[in-house]
Amino acid sequence: MQEHLPVDFKAALIKGKNNYICPKRLKIAYENAYSLFENDEIKLLDKLYSWSKNTIDGTLSDIPFQVIPNVWSSVCAERGICTNKTCGGIEDTECFYAKAKYRISQADVVVVNHHLFFTLFAGVKDVDDEGYLYKNDFVIFDEAHTLETVAAEHIVPAISREMIKYHLLRLYNERKKKGFLVSFPFLHVIPVIQNLLEVNQYFFQNIKRELFHYRNKDEKKLALRITEKNIVKDSSATNNS
Ligand code: SF4
Repeated sequence: MQEHLPVDFKAALIKGKNNYICPKRLKIAYENAYSLFENDEIKLLDKLYSWSKNTIDGTLSDIPFQVIPNVWSSVCAERGICTNKTCGGIEDTECFYAKAKYRISQADVVVVNHHLFFTLFAGVKDVDDEGYLYKNDFVIFDEAHTLETVAAEHIVPAISREMIKYHLLRLYNERKKKGFLVSFPFLHVIPVIQNLLEVNQYFFQNIKRELFHYRNKDEKKLALRITEKNIVKDSSATNNS
């Protein structure tokens, strides 16, 4: 379009934050690799570290080898951990995401996929996030027939048993004796993690039992609308955790 339109404009592409490697998390993971990862994961972390020194765009799709999700989720950029104090300003930062954000702040046209568009859209009320959506922007959607599904996925908050379990096991995995807590003096928290894993399992089992068994609903149905509050007992109310 830049070649064919009679106006000058700058365009920039940005992907979802989790698509960018975070140099700060990568360094922490690299320094604590033996307490966090299995041997094959440590080899992958080495490769990622070397790649990060040469990549320009710093995103997952730019990596020329396969990356295991468990390793990527420990080194990718995430919400809530970025500060200028620890990561530098735009002039001296090594952060790929900060550089991409800077490029889009200078651009007239920003290209995002549907998933990122609706993730940003869902977060526009968040005062800590600048966001990229401005009141007077024009939006052009390609493939607009998929909008409804993607929007529904991103605008409503979602939580699942596996999501909670995954994050608890990242803190401490009893079977593998690995996790973030192993390197820090928080070992007294480990029984709490074990307890939370059980509470999580119990809570979702209760929901399933309540919805499908007691109410004789069809278990094959994937979505149900729940209109009452407190359909199961709050597990945290009977638990010290
Ligand atoms: S600004 Fe955020 S994503 Fe970038 S290096 Fe720092 S913590 Fe990582």
